[in-house]
Amino acid sequence: MTTPATPSIAPGDIDALSARFESAEPQEIVRWAVETFGDGLSVGASFGGASGMAILHMTAALKPDVHVFVLDTDYLFEETHDTMRRSQDALGLQNLNVYKSRLTHEEQAAAHGSALWMRDPDLCCELRKIEPNRRALEGKTAWISGLRRDQSEGRRDTPVLAWNEKFGVIKINPLATWGERRTWAYIAANNIPYNPLLDQGYSSIGCYNCTLPGVQGRAGRWSGFEKDECGLHT
Ligand code: SF4
Repeated sequence: MTTPATPSIAPGDIDALSARFESAEPQEIVRWAVETFGDGLSVGASFGGASGMAILHMTAALKPDVHVFVLDTDYLFEETHDTMRRSQDALGLQNLNVYKSRLTHEEQAAAHGSALWMRDPDLCCELRKIEPNRRALEGKTAWISGLRRDQSEGRRDTPVLAWNEKFGVIKINPLATWGERRTWAYIAANNIPYNPLLDQGYSSIGCYNCTLPGVQGRAGRWSGFEKDECGLHT
């Protein structure tokens, strides 16, 4: 299904729609997003968490050629790469795009010192996630993600729909109101591939440099720092 991107929605309408979608099923919100934004819609996928896989399934079922992007920081687990490969086949993703930092690992070390993530993870995330995310969303009008309110304290007020100033798009979080159990029930019911590390004690999976197993929620990310977001969703 290919439809043209539509113009932006007035801020007041975004808030009203977000309130209306509070009681909507995620599939209904995804359908609205596909019909409203068409080729202007982009799906951010990490191939780490369960909710992102559910969103990919819902979106690709309606629009297999939807623009899907993954940020390959060069520090992704091999299991994450494997999940991406399996998902492309299983979900029929026709438009999967990989975005990398403008700096190789070596160039980053030369410019900013080795193991930047241990000294300045905000800068490392800026170079390897935020800037590539900006490129991924160039020319897009809406970004759909798998964020849920129950994933962390900082995500507790996640709106279903909001204008995202940082990236200049409408951000859609269809799973905002779902919890862990409903998400996994959806994964199981639809036989959706997911990252095997989630069965090995990892709760939230990002770069191997900054991800620990055995810790609930996002507390296993950036251990030792007052940080539980890379900056994409804040
Ligand atoms: S999660 Fe860690 S390694 Fe990955 S980009 Fe951020 S600071 Fe760097």
